[in-house]
Amino acid sequence: MTNKSPYLLYSDGKGNIFEDTSLYATGRSGWEAYEVPAEDWIELPEGGSLYELPGRKGIGVDVRTGEMRLCDKGWAVAAFIPPAHTGLYLAAYETTPGAPTLPLFCYTAAGWLNEKFYVPAVRIEKDIRQECAGYDDNVIQGGVKHIMSAYPNNRLLRHLSQNCCLTYHCPAARNYFSGRWECPVPTSPACNANCVGCISFQPAEENIVSTQDRLTFKPTAEEIVEFTVPHLQTAPFPIVSFGQGCEGEPLLMWETIRESIIEMRKHTSNGSININTNGSKPGAVKALCEAGLNSIRVSTNSAQKHIYERYYRPNNYEFEDIVESLKVVRGYGGWTSINYFVFPGMTDSVEEYEALRKLIRETGLRMIQWRNFNIDPDWYLGKIGIHETGEIMGIRQLMELIKEEFPELKYGYFNPPMERIKGNFEADFAHY
Ligand code: SF4
Repeated sequence: MTNKSPYLLYSDGKGNIFEDTSLYATGRSGWEAYEVPAEDWIELPEGGSLYELPGRKGIGVDVRTGEMRLCDKGWAVAAFIPPAHTGLYLAAYETTPGAPTLPLFCYTAAGWLNEKFYVPAVRIEKDIRQECAGYDDNVIQGGVKHIMSAYPNNRLLRHLSQNCCLTYHCPAARNYFSGRWECPVPTSPACNANCVGCISFQPAEENIVSTQDRLTFKPTAEEIVEFTVPHLQTAPFPIVSFGQGCEGEPLLMWETIRESIIEMRKHTSNGSININTNGSKPGAVKALCEAGLNSIRVSTNSAQKHIYERYYRPNNYEFEDIVESLKVVRGYGGWTSINYFVFPGMTDSVEEYEALRKLIRETGLRMIQWRNFNIDPDWYLGKIGIHETGEIMGIRQLMELIKEEFPELKYGYFNPPMERIKGNFEADFAHY
């Protein structure tokens, strides 16, 4: 919280960032720029970074006149806020003709005040599993060496170590090779959706690239079980998570995943077995629940069918299927979350609020993971055909209203371990 609005930031296009003390920073929601309430600004959390936005001019409030106007001193600046925090406003700017599409990161508003960077955001998750200060490269390198010498022929571990951990610096892979918490298990080279902002595959005709390459082989159940059983048996707060950013849709590999879960549970009842998925195949989800699946996280940009399908561009499934998958897991007593891509101006529209209430009621949803949407805002709205955005509630107010109506519903950013699912969810997990 600040006692006054931070100043707008701009860049010289060479990576140098400056404050413009003639303008207060604003925030974007949908296609509009707004003054950000003072209570919404927090210091940029550790692990956050700043981006200069080529071909874009920042929108600010003139400190003398109170009028909104463009900053002509340089390019606009946005913040990439670290996991566990949800952005309340996007960076506000005007895009000049010919400006390049921005890569697949989140673009939260940012400002400068009292020698510090500020962002409009909330810490939504207590769990510290992806705090950048919590990673020790020596421990990670040692873990990679130890595990790869134990399982030299395991293709999946080779992918997780060489690509995910050492190249993409995937936080989940780095935790696995540190012997703790959530272990990622990608399995699928293919997908039955065509998301506009897919992070593992972008068509050649698009002028942005995916942030990681999609898995190119189908692991066997033996390769999966070989390293997941020891993880469930030995890691603190263990989770095994199918469905990662470096693959397509895991439900297309449900038979292999089912076989793996059955085998894992023969060896240990420890931990949580979770699947991050687009939720497209409720029948497959049912088979995985019968095999012992504990938790599901269904990704979505919206609780509205038309907004969802314009973004996911599904092959042979519909929005109703993802709703059914959540109901199936709930029916088996499993933990259900949505991986909710937060886009100010869309997520907090009145229509979305009503649809979200309906989704929570219909599915008995247990948790919302309020994730920042990693996508160029203009490109996203253009691709899903949204040329003007209506009345907005504000992301913070949306969160408060939903919590008021559904007090048992949990908020966070990460899949919870069994200790939180079965135990005191709100317990202080600061010191794992
Ligand atoms: S569901 Fe996942 S893998 Fe499939 S297109 Fe969408 S983002 Fe990509």
